Amino acid sequence: MKPDRNKSTLKVNKGVAQPPSVHPESVKRFMTARKPNLNSVEFVTGILAGNRTILSQAITLIESQLPEHMLMAQDIIALCLPHTGNSMRIGITGVPGVGKSSFIEAIGGYITKKGHKLAVLAIDPSSERSKGSIMGDKTRMESLSADANAFIRPSPTAGSLGGVARKTRESMLLCEAAGFDVIFIETVGVGQSETTVHSMVDFFLLLMLAGAGDELQGIKRGIMEMADAIAITKSDGDNVVPSERARSEYSNAIHLFPPSSSGWTPDVLTLSATEKTGLEELWNITEKFFKHIRSSGFMAKNRKEQSRTWMYDTIKARLMEDFLSDAEIQSKIKEIEEQVMSGAISSYAGARELLAKKYIAK
Ligand code: GDP
Repeated sequence: MKPDRNKSTLKVNKGVAQPPSVHPESVKRFMTARKPNLNSVEFVTGILAGNRTILSQAITLIESQLPEHMLMAQDIIALCLPHTGNSMRIGITGVPGVGKSSFIEAIGGYITKKGHKLAVLAIDPSSERSKGSIMGDKTRMESLSADANAFIRPSPTAGSLGGVARKTRESMLLCEAAGFDVIFIETVGVGQSETTVHSMVDFFLLLMLAGAGDELQGIKRGIMEMADAIAITKSDGDNVVPSERARSEYSNAIHLFPPSSSGWTPDVLTLSATEKTGLEELWNITEKFFKHIRSSGFMAKNRKEQSRTWMYDTIKARLMEDFLSDAEIQSKIKEIEEQVMSGAISSYAGARELLAKKYIAK
């Protein structure tokens, strides 16, 4: 059946649960066992040897809320750290229906055939609420799921965007240690998640539809400014002409943006996942981009800055967790929140009163 492009733009796919790669019973057993059956060194040995089952289990530890799992995950990450950093970190965004899954499936096959090892991770903070598109669409990446050189892991579901992002970032490090040299981090083009993904990748790809209009696609100008490449998807059949028109419009628009700090001028291209066109062009652009940022020193500089950002983000998150888990704060916070919302006190006064309980009064 011919897909209805116009409908798919606004449709959030219903989402079918991802069939777990490990038997659900074993996952349950693994998650409820207080102690995983391997120690940290065994985990690391398995990861470095490229053992995907062990990699999956280690990512499950990263995603776990159990304190002993969290500690072990931190141990594993620390031991893997010297073996990380050797990948092309690529962020992919676009609204639900733009064709992210189909594109990843198509280009994924193309680059694994070229001898790369690809890990596909996702950040979808909405997935818990709506079982949103990213989870469901993964089931469609059938051939990539069966590809021995590809590893697909759906978005962690629990927690805030910050929490989900931390888990994805840590999973990325383990994938690098396991020898994956291309990492895709996929996110939906709504909300804040693309800024977060941008802060953990080297190359940021925005997928757009022809003729849908920027507003309709929920793409803010700021997101277009972050893009290192824009690909107009579904450029096949009747859609080739509108796609080409969109390509030239976006090319013109992009030249009006302020120059990026990498010194790279974003490319705009058209592609079709169905007909597998434009994939080679996109991959050539990606390789050219990496050559450019490697030789200019931007890649190393940017990663250092990203690490610093992540350190502060982690501190902020921990301080916030610590603050919100305080019994006295918990007993007061709702009341003060209501006072702020009703206008009885200012936001500043409310914050000061709560902070004083923990940091000054004690
Ligand atoms: P996502 O929500 O962004 O991951 O989008 P999907 O990959 O699930 O694609 C949404 C819809 O667009 C599906 O019905 C796909 O079959 C269709 N689609 C995706 N890529 C193409 C393409 O290259 N050409 C055409 N004609 N349809 C496509």
